[in-house]
Amino acid sequence: MRDDNCIFCKIAAGEILSKTLYEDDKFRVILDLGPAAKGHALILPKDHYANLYELPEELAGDVMKLAKKMAKVMTEKLECKGFNLVQNNGEIAGQTVFHFHMHLIPRYEDDGQTIGWKPGSPSQEELEEIKNLITRD
Ligand code: 5GP
Ligand code: ZN
Repeated sequence: MRDDNCIFCKIAAGEILSKTLYEDDKFRVILDLGPAAKGHALILPKDHYANLYELPEELAGDVMKLAKKMAKVMTEKLECKGFNLVQNNGEIAGQTVFHFHMHLIPRYEDDGQTIGWKPGSPSQEELEEIKNLITRD
């Protein structure tokens, strides 16, 4: 399963060279060309799925297992002080390449990055309404 117009399909298949940290039959892990911090990497499934909605459940589990394995090795080797996993779905959420990928972002003291959001302040009633919306059949 691939999309001939997709750059990450080409990178995952090894047709476009990348700095590969890890590869198996399902995934390639590469260094991001526009890193948020030293060692910022991307987990790419070799098959093309545009986003989390399209990703098969089993592969979603495999992604998290691989993320954990990479976080351990990268933290040891890079001596980073923390780690963000980031995964964007849809343009509104910051996705720019529409081939599912998980960002592996090592974090360091004074790395100058902020990965976060402005916290809201919903009332208990609003939280209840949202909970009901999400959990109703
Ligand atoms: P998104 O915004 O879709 O979650 O993340 C896309 C990421 O892919 C960005 O961090 C960007 O720097 C990275 N990127 C885009 N094109 C390439 C490329 O050709 N090679 C590599 N290694 N990274 C890329
Ligand atoms: Zn693709």
